[in-house]
Amino acid sequence: MKCRKCGEPLQVQRRCRQVRLRCSGCEKEYQIHEVAADLDPETEAQLERFTCIIYD
Ligand SMILES: [Zn+2]
Repeated sequence: MKCRKCGEPLQVQRRCRQVRLRCSGCEKEYQIHEVAADLDPETEAQLERFTCIIYD
């Protein structure tokens, strides 16, 4: 999915026990719950690969 600020693709980033989406353009980070409503199937599939995601 795309960044809301600049439209660049978001990358799934795993950090310790948390997962974030990080923009490859402006480097803004989104928490999963911030963008949960807008997740596209491709991003959702990437997130499903992480076995114990904490949606904080
Ligand atoms: Zn961005």
